[in-house]
Amino acid sequence: MPGAIRGRGGSRPVPILMYHQVTPKPTAAFAKYTVTAKAFAAQMRWLAVARYTPLTMEALVAAWQEQRALPRRPVVITFDDGFRDCMEFAVPVLVQHGFPAVFFLVAGLMGRTSRWMLHTSGVEFPLMDWAAARTLQSHGIECAAHSMTHPALADQPAAASRAELVESRQLLEDRLGREVRHLAYPFGSVSTEVRALAAEAGYVAACTTENGLAAEGDDRLRLPRVPVYGQDSLLDFVCRLRGGHTAREVLRRTLPPRALSLYRTIRGRAPQP
Ligand SMILES: [Zn+2]
Repeated sequence: MPGAIRGRGGSRPVPILMYHQVTPKPTAAFAKYTVTAKAFAAQMRWLAVARYTPLTMEALVAAWQEQRALPRRPVVITFDDGFRDCMEFAVPVLVQHGFPAVFFLVAGLMGRTSRWMLHTSGVEFPLMDWAAARTLQSHGIECAAHSMTHPALADQPAAASRAELVESRQLLEDRLGREVRHLAYPFGSVSTEVRALAAEAGYVAACTTENGLAAEGDDRLRLPRVPVYGQDSLLDFVCRLRGGHTAREVLRRTLPPRALSLYRTIRGRAPQP
C-alpha cells in the first residue's frame, strides 16, 4: 500500500484534545471547562498555521489498525457532552478551517439539558438535538458515544453501565445512520469491569480523562487525552499539544530545582513596569 510506512508516522503519539464548552461568556461554575470563542478560534488558527492535521477517531484508529502512516502532526479534536453553544461558536470555526472533529454525545439527553451537572457544578446547559448532530455529520464531524445519561460508570452496578453503553450506541446508530465505534467515559470514570463492558458493547476505542498523548501501543479502550482548559494561554495550548502539559508545568518538569529558584530570584529583581 502506498505510503504505508510502519514505525514512522504510525507510531508517533497523538494529542487527542478534550474540549467541553465553547462560548463567548463562560459561566463561573464551569469556567475551567469552558474555552471562550475567541481563544478557541486562536487555537484552531494555531493548528492551521503550525500545519497540524486534525483526524476523526475513525481515521486515527483505522490508521493504527491497518498500520498506516499518520499524516504529519496528527491531532484529534474532541468535544464531550455536545453543548448547544458549540454548534454556534466552535463548529463554524472547524468548518472554516476544514477540520474534522469528534463530538461525544449524551444520547439519552439530546435536545435537553446537561442535568447531571446540577450535582457537580450547580448549573446546566442546553444540549444539541438530533438535527444538530446530523449537521455535524454533514461537515465530516464524527458523532460518538458518551452514554445515555452521563453517570460515573465505575460507580454503579454493572447491569446499569452495560445498558448505558449498549443503548447509547444503538440509539446513535439508529438516529444518525452510521456505525458508532467510539466512546468517551463520562467523568472519565472507568474500571477494569467498565472497560470490559465497553468491549462487549462493541466499542473499539474509548477515551478517558487521563492526561497524555495517545500512542499506537496504548490500550485502545483507555486512551489518554490532552485537556484544554479555560485558563490556558495560547502558549499553554502549544505546550499541551506536545506533551499534555501547560507552559508552567513543562518548566517545572524540565528545569532542575536550582535553576527554578534562580529563575524566581531573577524575576523578582526585574524592574517593575
Ligand atoms: Zn461528559
